[in-house]
Amino acid sequence: MTPLERALRERIRAEGAITVEAFMEACNSYYYSTRDPLGADGDFTTAPEISQMFGELVGAALADVWARASRPAVRYVELGPGRGTLASDALRVMRSAGLDPPVHFVETSDTLRAAQRHAVPGATWHQHIGDLPGDLPLLVVANEFLDALPIRQHVAGAERHVVAAGGGLAFDRDGEIVETSPARDAAVQAVAEGLVAIGGVALIIDYGHARSGPGDTLQAVKGHRFAAVLDQPGEQDLTSHVDFQRVAEVALTAGATVEGPAEQGAWLERLGIMPRARMLANGAPERAAEIETARARLCRPDQMGSLFKVLALRHPDWPTPAGL
Ligand code: SAH
Repeated sequence: MTPLERALRERIRAEGAITVEAFMEACNSYYYSTRDPLGADGDFTTAPEISQMFGELVGAALADVWARASRPAVRYVELGPGRGTLASDALRVMRSAGLDPPVHFVETSDTLRAAQRHAVPGATWHQHIGDLPGDLPLLVVANEFLDALPIRQHVAGAERHVVAAGGGLAFDRDGEIVETSPARDAAVQAVAEGLVAIGGVALIIDYGHARSGPGDTLQAVKGHRFAAVLDQPGEQDLTSHVDFQRVAEVALTAGATVEGPAEQGAWLERLGIMPRARMLANGAPERAAEIETARARLCRPDQMGSLFKVLALRHPDWPTPAGL
């Protein structure tokens, strides 16, 4: 039994069944605070860890939108920056385009903050989106951040809970599941309100669906394999599909302008991943096959190209980011 499972069973004994939301919240805060889960030796890999091209194209898109907005003073903000790889690649490209913004990371994990400090010296960290400074327009990036925030599940109108059963944990009901996420809604609302108040854009990149609909999308990943959600609490990554229709609705209600979602593969192609891959391969012919494998993994519809989507939020007076 994992340390967190023991604690959760005690909590259930004291309080009664806990919601899926409380379970996911407890698991992920334990999980992210006790390890660096990314990369070959970890549990999962993300787009910026697959190739530098991902962060570079994000940086190019942000530098372009900033230039078209007449080059104001801005802040770069990243939500859940992992190892800081995306920010480091994006900032390199932004600096070469004359944009060198102060960097703000919203990150709860001390372990990952240490990795981020190494990748991006001079960043400032915040515990919550609401703690970000509100004095300058923001260029916000969130890659695989919303999928880690807790969700609620309902079956025929009744909230789904986790109970202690036998030697382990079990769900208290099954059936057609409807998912909602107050934590995600709050995060999107806070970002959108920040943009509307002072200007800027946000690129929200994640896996999920373009239209709201029922379905159980809660999943666990351990060692690059899918696992049972209730197994090994706190030792595996729990995520769920992002409902992009809902994200767009929350942002629109807050007054932001919304573009997308676009599929990640098409978006990266419109931003120029093909010529970037060729340029990298020409500079390092011994890595040509590896670069092409990474490009295909990010773009092909049967890999990350279609399931992963990009949504842009912006102040109504800011230009539309390229690729959307
Ligand atoms: N964006 C990175 C990492 C994705 S993993 C990448 O693409 O590689 C999810 C990230 O969100 C981790 O950095 C994790 O510590 C952070 N995170 C998870 N829940 C969070 C929360 N409630 N508040 C702030 N950060 C959170």
